Amino acid sequence: MSRVGGLILLTVLVILIYYNNSKSDKDTYSSSERTGIVEVHFIDVGQGDAILIEADNHAMLVDAGENYAERVVIDYLEANHISRLDYVIGTHPHSDHIGGLDGVLNRYPTDRLFLPSVTHTTKTFENLLDAIEDNQLNITKPDMGQAYSFGPATFTFVAPNSDEYEEMNDYSIGIKLTYGSTSFLLLGDAGKASEQEMLKNHYDLSADVLKLSHHGSSDSNSEPFLDAVDPTYAVISLGKDNDYGHPHAETMKEMMEREIKVYRTDQQGTIIFASDGKNISVNKENYLITEEDIK
Ligand SMILES: [Zn+2]
Repeated sequence: MSRVGGLILLTVLVILIYYNNSKSDKDTYSSSERTGIVEVHFIDVGQGDAILIEADNHAMLVDAGENYAERVVIDYLEANHISRLDYVIGTHPHSDHIGGLDGVLNRYPTDRLFLPSVTHTTKTFENLLDAIEDNQLNITKPDMGQAYSFGPATFTFVAPNSDEYEEMNDYSIGIKLTYGSTSFLLLGDAGKASEQEMLKNHYDLSADVLKLSHHGSSDSNSEPFLDAVDPTYAVISLGKDNDYGHPHAETMKEMMEREIKVYRTDQQGTIIFASDGKNISVNKENYLITEEDIK
């Protein structure tokens, strides 16, 4: 082979290697290729919760909706080029939170899975345990007050604070995600008993964005709790015409009186918040509360 021919071959090889590397890098990138931005996606899964958090190529999922929403969640993660999950949190064993989790764990390598210390006798919960076993995952119990790093952000657990509750909802794992001077509070379906404990423990519950607990139910989101959080934005994750009358009028009245900007997945689809550590932006205009909502 001539010297020129060798050079050309080498150049072609280098280009091929470079192309393949950049291609495989690309596959592992999340949608937010911008650095220094934390995005919180409240995915529209009908009645239930599924929240994707992304930051500098890190990804975390809090809940995965009902069984029937599993495809919606996986499609959403795929569309956002997620290839692995740093953290997965199943807030509590109700099917509108963990229904799609088995499919997610079967599909995505997961570094750490958090579940509360409570079991449930449903097929949905058994399917989750099977997926955990099949993928040789360990369950980590949330340790209150412990800080975990997540890209440029951190999160700490604020609930649950007891070992036993009467209501399954109160076992919900709650986290406060902080990035710079901005913060998000996500508490699954934590009810008033859990809220009282968080207040009693004097956690710093203040947050810019509160996912209203239990789909905007009046069993949660008590006045003293809302006083402590004092959010600018509230998100309600729920299905249209659900059987529970969510969001409850009492909760919507509180939102109106406190002039909190409300976002609803049943009315507005998936809601995406983005924080640069100082400012928060939202992909939608806030929902305007109607007379019907507070009746
Ligand atoms: Zn729920």
